[in-house]
Amino acid sequence: MEQTESIPTTAGHTATAVPVTVAYGDGIGPEIMDATLRILEAAGARIKTETIEVGEKVYLSGNTSGIDKSAWDSIRRTKVFLKAPITTPQGGGYKSLNVTTRKMLGLYANVRPSIAYHPFVDTKHAGMDVVIIRENEEDLYAGIEHQQTDEVVQCLKLVSRPGCERIVRYAFEYARQYGRKKVTCFTKDNIMKQTDGLFHKVFDEIGAEYPDIEQEHWIIDIGAAKLADTPEAFDVIVTLNLYGDVLSDVAAQIAGSVGLAGSANIGAEVSMFEAIHGSAPRRAGQNVANPSGLLQGAIQMLVHIGQSDVASKIQNAWLKTLEDGIHTYDIFREGVSREKVGTSEFADAVIARLGQQPTNLKAVAYSSAGSLNLKMPERKPAAQKELVGADVFMHWRGTNPNELGEKVSAVDGGKLKLSMISNRGIVVWPTGFPETFCTDHWRLRFKPEAGTPINNADLLNLITRLHEAGIEFIKIENLYRFDGKEAYSLGQGQ
Ligand code: NAD
Repeated sequence: MEQTESIPTTAGHTATAVPVTVAYGDGIGPEIMDATLRILEAAGARIKTETIEVGEKVYLSGNTSGIDKSAWDSIRRTKVFLKAPITTPQGGGYKSLNVTTRKMLGLYANVRPSIAYHPFVDTKHAGMDVVIIRENEEDLYAGIEHQQTDEVVQCLKLVSRPGCERIVRYAFEYARQYGRKKVTCFTKDNIMKQTDGLFHKVFDEIGAEYPDIEQEHWIIDIGAAKLADTPEAFDVIVTLNLYGDVLSDVAAQIAGSVGLAGSANIGAEVSMFEAIHGSAPRRAGQNVANPSGLLQGAIQMLVHIGQSDVASKIQNAWLKTLEDGIHTYDIFREGVSREKVGTSEFADAVIARLGQQPTNLKAVAYSSAGSLNLKMPERKPAAQKELVGADVFMHWRGTNPNELGEKVSAVDGGKLKLSMISNRGIVVWPTGFPETFCTDHWRLRFKPEAGTPINNADLLNLITRLHEAGIEFIKIENLYRFDGKEAYSLGQGQ
């Protein structure tokens, strides 16, 4: 690392300080960051902070991304970013800093532990201790959306093999590093056989390299129901972006500890650590906010940079503070809590307990493995790819699929013949039900006679014929076989 320096530690010897970029954020951000950094310092964290400005002030100065070049430079130099929550100003035009940071820096894994601290913090699920590891860059969050007809818009769900391999391997390695016993995969591959199917397949492939870890797959709907009802049945969950986004909030909420949860956004080079909550502007400047969420993010950071000794010391002191009933207002409960404290006093209480272990809650001893050294996915040899047809989508305001079928069949010609029409995925021609509701967005599937090879020129020929007959297409998707296997979905009802 370029930016290291020797600093005295609390133990009296010198150690290399790891540079960390810090953003104090907005609202309650500065107070909880101050509390967190005081605890880290008192615990002997071997870090050297570089402060950057991101968020509201930067947005309001006219920078729609909320972050300027010097801040990017710092994050890219230190590669470790501890970020307090920020306020995204009201009104359009401001880009989410979190989404921008994740995408620009390739932070592909979002790691969120949701843990119950029963009986000291109110929870519906006393035994809950789940970590959700969510793919952070792909899926519907690639944000590729288009309006295609008067009535239909689409969002492209992109799932890549390297993307699946990285997140699934991360989940298994994380489970090993943190001594967790089971990894559960959530997908909806009974419906989305290509996208979610790939995620599940990669889970099975990579899982085979981790025979020491129990593994299972759940369809997301029943899996989510089980998670909400019996979270103690799960340990580590790995899933796609959208499902993970929704489920990690549900998990944090039912653990009873939204204000106590941190998260890590991990990339191959850079990683970002934060609380899961926002900047709570109405609580700002009153010394009441709970700094625990950001502290939990900072503890994940310390494990990541190889300072698990300090991370364990802080976590155990923090657990002891919770046990001793020293609580901020958000978790304070008459009869359980002993003392209602502010942000700063809570930090003082944790500092006073550094070196102590919890007596009721389970003490931690994090592994000293440091950041997970994951092998990058290797590109596989190209499959044998064979063009076997095309789905041509069109905008047509008619309502009778038979009329469209006749019109298109009259001009399809060439090697490609109309084999099926569907509307919103449901087959409506050559067979179908009059009850099926149709929009103005139609998919026409063209295939050659069995055994007739086709290439892109045949598709261009088809499109030209359709155009000349006044049939306007809005997009075309080629149909392929990969290594002899059809790699596209059938129409529903086909
Ligand atoms: P919020 O998480 O800021 O607040 C929700 C509720 O939780 C509030 O009632 C608040 O009082 C309470 N709360 C949150 N953190 C707390 C803490 N540490 N201690 C005690 N109570 C706490 O969510 P919001 O009100 O929807 O959003 C406020 C702002 O934060 C918005 O501008 C939003 O865009 C932003 N935000 C930022 C991030 C981030 O930077 N990662 C995440 C979410 C929201």
